[in-house]
Amino acid sequence: MTEKKHEFQAEVAKLLHIVTHSLYSETEIFLRELVSNASDACDRLRYAALTAPALIQDDPEFKVTLSIDNDAKTLTIEDNGIGMSEQEMIDNLGTIARSGTSNFVDQLTGDSAKDINVIGQFGVGFYSSFMVADKVEVTSRKAGEENAYVWSSDGSGSYTIADGSRASRGTTIILHIKDSTAEYLDANRIRNVIKTYADHIALPVILKAANETEDGTKEDETLNTASALWTRSKSEITPEQYTEFYHHVGQAFDAPWATLHSKVEGVLEYSLLVFIPGQQPFDLFSPDRKSALKLYVKRVFITDDCEELIPAYLRFLKGIVDSEDLPLNVSREMLQNNPVLRKIRTGLVKRVIGEIEKRSKADAEGFHKFWDNFGAVLKEGIYEDMEQGDRILKLSVFKSTASDSYTDLAAYAERMKDGQENIYYITGDNEDAIKKSPQLEGFRAKGIEVLLLSDPVDSFWLSRQTAFDGKNFKSVTQGSAELDKMTADEDTKSDDDKSDEANLSTVIAAFKLALEDKVKDVRISNRLTDSPVCLVADEGDVDIHLEKVLKAHKQFGAAASQRILEINPKHALIEKLKERGEKEGASDLLSNAALLLLDQAYIIEGEPINDPVAFSQRMANFMAQGL
Ligand code: ADP
Ligand code: MG
Repeated sequence: MTEKKHEFQAEVAKLLHIVTHSLYSETEIFLRELVSNASDACDRLRYAALTAPALIQDDPEFKVTLSIDNDAKTLTIEDNGIGMSEQEMIDNLGTIARSGTSNFVDQLTGDSAKDINVIGQFGVGFYSSFMVADKVEVTSRKAGEENAYVWSSDGSGSYTIADGSRASRGTTIILHIKDSTAEYLDANRIRNVIKTYADHIALPVILKAANETEDGTKEDETLNTASALWTRSKSEITPEQYTEFYHHVGQAFDAPWATLHSKVEGVLEYSLLVFIPGQQPFDLFSPDRKSALKLYVKRVFITDDCEELIPAYLRFLKGIVDSEDLPLNVSREMLQNNPVLRKIRTGLVKRVIGEIEKRSKADAEGFHKFWDNFGAVLKEGIYEDMEQGDRILKLSVFKSTASDSYTDLAAYAERMKDGQENIYYITGDNEDAIKKSPQLEGFRAKGIEVLLLSDPVDSFWLSRQTAFDGKNFKSVTQGSAELDKMTADEDTKSDDDKSDEANLSTVIAAFKLALEDKVKDVRISNRLTDSPVCLVADEGDVDIHLEKVLKAHKQFGAAASQRILEINPKHALIEKLKERGEKEGASDLLSNAALLLLDQAYIIEGEPINDPVAFSQRMANFMAQGL
C-alpha cells in the first residue's frame, strides 16, 4: 500500500491549530457540518444520475448513516453520495477552496477568544471534525470508479492519503473522539444534535444499532423527519428549524432577517423557501460571487449556479426554489431564456420586494439594519429593473443633512420648504467627507435638506431616474443654487447679489483672467457661508462626483469637464482681496490668489492638483507675505 504525506495549505494549518486548541462551547456543530456535506454529496450524485442512471443503479436509496463504537471510541458518518477522487481529497480536505475564505483566515489573530468569534461567523466546514476528534480518517470512493482512498490526519500540519477499499461509492468519516468530548459516543446526545441541527435534511439520517448489544432486537433508527423542509406546511416548522435550514442551505451562521416560505400554485407550480440574511456576507461585492439560491426540480437538486433565477440586485438572497414544471433532465442550456424560470423569477422578485416593503413600514429600525447590509445592492434594481425600479426607489432610504437616521423620499418631500422645487442631493465616496462639503453650507444655513449619497451605485441610478413624485433630483454641486427662491428658516439677511457683483468686479475680472483656461466661469456664490470658494458643474455638465465614478468605470473620456469656481463674497479672505485689489499693482497678488484658491477647491473635492510644486511655492509666498 502506498501512503503519501501532504502538508496542509498554510491557512488550513492555522485554522486547524485554532480549532484543535481553542475551547469552543458549541462543539456539536461538527455534526451539522458533516451531515450537511453528506447531504450535499448525495444531492450532487442524484443530479449526475439524471443523465447517467448507472451511477446509482446498485444503490438508489440515498442516506447518511451514523454509528458509534464505544470500544474503539469512534463515531462514524457514512454516506452513499458522489464520493471523492484522490485529487478531490487533496483539493477539498487540504486547502480552503471557498472564495473569499482566505480573507477570513487573515482576520485570525491567534487570540483564541477572538478567533472563535470569527470562526463562528464563517464556519470551518469539514475541519470542525477536529474539535471533537484527535484523529480523522476519511475513506471515499467516487461514484463510477473502482478505487477508494483513505485520507487521514491528526490535524497538526500534515495528512496522508493511501489506497483504501470501499464496497461501493460514497464517503465514510471515522472520528476518533477525544476524551474531553466523549459525549459524542452517547446515542442520546447524537439523537438530540441531529434533531436540532439536521432535521431538515431531506434524506434519512440513520443511527445504526449499537454493536455491543447482543440481544438482537435493536434496530437501526431514523433520527430526522427526512422530508424536504419546504414541502412541509408552515405550521409544522419551528423558527429554529427554519434557521437551521438557512445555515445548511446558505452556508450561513447568522439569524435570517426574513424567511419567505410559500407554495405557488396556478399556471405554474413551485415552492420557494428564501431567506434574507441578517448579516452581510463577506463576498457580497466580490465580482465572482455566485447566486446563493439553489434550484430544485421536484425535490431534486439541479444547480446552485443559475443566474436566471434572480436578478443580480437580489444576490444576497439564500435558499431554494423547487419547480414542478421544469423537466427533471433540464440541462444548463435549457435554463437560459427559459420561460418557466423567467416567470418564477418575476414572482420571486415581487414576493421579496413586497416583504421588504412590508417590513419597512412595520419596523423602521429592523428595516434600517437590512438597509445597512443590502441597501447598496438593492438600489442597483432602481435602474436595472424596468418593472420594479420605481417601487424600489420608493422604499429606498437615504442619509440626509436633516438627521443622522435614514429618510425615504416621501418623508423628504414633506419637509421641503416653500418655493423648493427640487430634491437636493450630494454624492461622494464617503458620508463623513461629503457632509463637510462647502457646497452644502448655504443649504444648511437656509435649513434646506440635502440627501447624502455615498454609495457608488447612487450615481448610476441618478443618471436614469431624474425625478420622484414630480420633483427633480438636483445635485448641489451643479448649476445655480436657487437658494434665493426658497424661504429661509431664520432671517438670514437676503443679500443683493447685484451689489456684491459690482463690489467684487475687480476680483472677479482678475480671477477670470488668471484662470482663463482652467475654469468655465468665475462667479459669486450664494451656496457658501464659511468657505471662500467651491467648484460646481455647469447646469448641463456632468456632476463632479459622477464624472469621477464614470472615469473609474472607464466610461468617461480623459478630458475633464471645466468647472465653475464660485467665490464667497462674505469671506474675510475675499473681502481682503477686494480691498487690496483696488490698489495699484495688485494684479500679481490677485492672480496668485486665484490659482491658490482653485487648487484648494480641488483638494476639497478630493481631486489631485495639477502642479503641486507651483501650489506649494505660491502658498509659501503668501504665508511669507502674511507674516
Ligand atoms: P463546504 O461544504 O463549505 O464546501 P467543507 O469543508 O464542509 O466546505 O467541505 C469541503 C469540500 O469537501 C466540499 O465542498 C466537498 O467538495 C468535499 N466533501 C466534504 N465532505 C464530503 C462528502 N461526504 N462527500 C463528498 N465530498 C465531500
Ligand atoms: Mg460543508
